[in-house]
Amino acid sequence: MQMASKVVKPQHVLPELEYSMGALEPFMSRETLEYHYGKHHRGYVNKLNSLIAGTVFEDARLEDIIRKSPGTILNNAGQVWNHSFFWRCIGPNGGGGPAGELGNTIKRSFGSVDAFRQHFKKVATEKFGSGWTWLIKTRDEQLAVRNTDDADNPLRSGDAPLLACDVWEHAYYIDYRNDRAKYLDAFWNIVNWKFVEENLAWRRQ
Ligand code: FE
Repeated sequence: MQMASKVVKPQHVLPELEYSMGALEPFMSRETLEYHYGKHHRGYVNKLNSLIAGTVFEDARLEDIIRKSPGTILNNAGQVWNHSFFWRCIGPNGGGGPAGELGNTIKRSFGSVDAFRQHFKKVATEKFGSGWTWLIKTRDEQLAVRNTDDADNPLRSGDAPLLACDVWEHAYYIDYRNDRAKYLDAFWNIVNWKFVEENLAWRRQ
């Protein structure tokens, strides 16, 4: 009797972008998207799938891999999650400011939306080396701006990510060279506040 061969399918896939590669211009170029999404993000997905094959993480949810895996697996799982989230934090109809409950909460927490932007930019530009800058909702329901190193992710400390900005050099070097502050200034023009507002309702899993 012939055994049915196991269908090997990649556990994690590169998500479709909800916009075209040139849609974020002039704030983020087509070339940046082609490299950042098309090569860096794709590379993390492929590497993660090859690393987890045959391990206890093979069938695990991405969030569980991030919370429980060590070293290289964690680095690639974190980067897969972080980038998938980042692409949804920005978009061609972005810009403006936060509305509704998020707008009010940001004003209460930081004084004003402008003060929040300035604080976020300061934290992001002061981040040494590669990583991410986040607006998070902490375990005690407070808003805060935090950096994480490399591929790390707020889920690992039990915080809820609301907004992410990739501050690895690969995110801005093509468009802004070494000027991370200029990249941050441009970032606000493409932030998809609708998505960030939805994340306020995040339920811990
Ligand atoms: Fe990146």
